[in-house]
Amino acid sequence: MEPTRERCDIVVVGGGSAAFATAVAAREAGAQRVIIVEKAPLAESGGNAMFSHTGFRFANRGAAEIREFLPHIADEPFAKMHIPPYTQDDFMNDLVAVTQGRIDRALATVLVEDSNSAVHWMLQLGIPWDVGSHIVVDGELFFGPGINIHPTGGGRGQIAAWREIAAAHGIEVRYDTPVSGLLGNTRRVTGVRVDGPDGEVEIEARAVILCAGGFQASREMRARYLRGKPDFMKVRGTRHDTGEVLRMALELGARGAGEWQGAHATPIDAGSPDFEVPVRSDGMGSWTNRYSYQYGITVNRLGRRFFDEGEAHQGYTYAKTGAAVLDQPGGTAFQIFDQTGIALIRPHAEMHLETKVEAGTLEALADALQIPREPLLATIAAFNAAIDGSKPFDPTQSDGRTTAGVNPPKTNWATAIVAPPFRGYPITGGATFTFGGLEITTDAQVVGMTGRPIEALYAVGDISGMFFHNYPAFTGQTRNVVFARRAARHALRSC
Ligand SMILES: Cc1cc2nc3c(=O)[nH]c(=O)nc-3n(C[C@H](O)[C@H](O)[C@H](O)COP(=O)(O)OP(=O)(O)OC[C@H]3O[C@@H](n4cnc5c(N)ncnc54)[C@H](O)[C@@H]3O)c2cc1C
Repeated sequence: MEPTRERCDIVVVGGGSAAFATAVAAREAGAQRVIIVEKAPLAESGGNAMFSHTGFRFANRGAAEIREFLPHIADEPFAKMHIPPYTQDDFMNDLVAVTQGRIDRALATVLVEDSNSAVHWMLQLGIPWDVGSHIVVDGELFFGPGINIHPTGGGRGQIAAWREIAAAHGIEVRYDTPVSGLLGNTRRVTGVRVDGPDGEVEIEARAVILCAGGFQASREMRARYLRGKPDFMKVRGTRHDTGEVLRMALELGARGAGEWQGAHATPIDAGSPDFEVPVRSDGMGSWTNRYSYQYGITVNRLGRRFFDEGEAHQGYTYAKTGAAVLDQPGGTAFQIFDQTGIALIRPHAEMHLETKVEAGTLEALADALQIPREPLLATIAAFNAAIDGSKPFDPTQSDGRTTAGVNPPKTNWATAIVAPPFRGYPITGGATFTFGGLEITTDAQVVGMTGRPIEALYAVGDISGMFFHNYPAFTGQTRNVVFARRAARHALRSC
């Protein structure tokens, strides 16, 4: 049967946060008819945001500016929040440092310079905000630079807010409607073919904006591109990010960018499901995250440490730590804490009580975690002895309290594992999103094999390739909104 045909101004592919931001920006830029086509049925849609608290990293002036996003917090508790300023230079330095200088500077510049206005735009649209990740020391709240807030209700709250805003903007959202083909050729794209509940439809559009996510949920594509043991990776987010739209664009002649062998992968509870980590009842992301490792040590099942747990604030190390864990025997490891570290564990890790192991002695902890006693005790004894106690332990900042003579070193927050009861968390590496994707211009146009943009084809979010080696926490959501707005404005101007 011939597909039915229809026409709109902008068709947006995907149903995650990038797609909604893009569609709303397109309506604001003057598009009359905008259609979102989402592969997942409504109950499974919303993309990766549905499994995240969706913190946003953006350049800002610190507490005075963040106050605008948190009008519901009274002055007294707000005064206990230590929110340092985060300049555009800070943001750029972070992007360059974690990607080891490989990030495209033009894209990074746009991301940094537009980050502040992007998050303010969301506020103006009516998206409410709440207090983001922090640690608590003596009743005071300490925030990492640039990562202070997230939408109320986390990613689920963000998607719910976008759905309302999209409806108010007259945007059509079609669920259960996967894109099965791109219409057009290497020079110009003219629309998409979808396979919806009512059969095949060809939707012609002035521009097509791809927001279909990475390929982390495709075991076959992971094995084809990623290094290490990608077959055994658990996937933290949606099961629907299987990379077929990315492949369609590559087959059309689009160029790739970012690190194709790399993925954002974090330490998560070893008992996590293969896909879609369980989400906290308040929508605030997952309780399977194991991100407090800088206040303890991590060992593999042979009882050996294998990375610098205190290299930097966890927001600069967590995205590469999952791969380090997967490289260990069995793809698993154990985070070990004494009472000093336990006091600093972020609440989300406390909530998964089933896999947490506690013991009064290190010998009993080794037995309970099924790690051979002798090497584990030797590792801990050597680590404790190597701590340079000349600097005080200070979890509120990089304290320079380091080790000497153990390999790997622990650069900050080195405290002896001595105060019982001890605790161990079995962990593995969980993929968040893949780093390889489509090459885009600063206006999110997809670049073709000749180096020229493919006309009327754009890519926003994880489907575009940008990162290498590592990633500064909470950059993905900001990138979505920055490039959503640029894609929409450019498409309405030039297509
Ligand atoms: C557990 C977790 C925690 C995270 N925490 C944060 C955080 O705090 N801050 C931050 O910045 N980032 C965070 N991230 C990363 C961030 O969520 C992603 O970078 C972001 O959601 C990507 O948005 P996206 O819209 O590009 O892709 P997605 O949200 O993955 O959406 C892709 C959409 O495309 C749809 N799709 C796929 N194939 C097709 C097809 N053939 N046709 C039509 N539609 C299709 C999918 O169904 C899906 O709805 C986290 C991710 C996870 C998984």
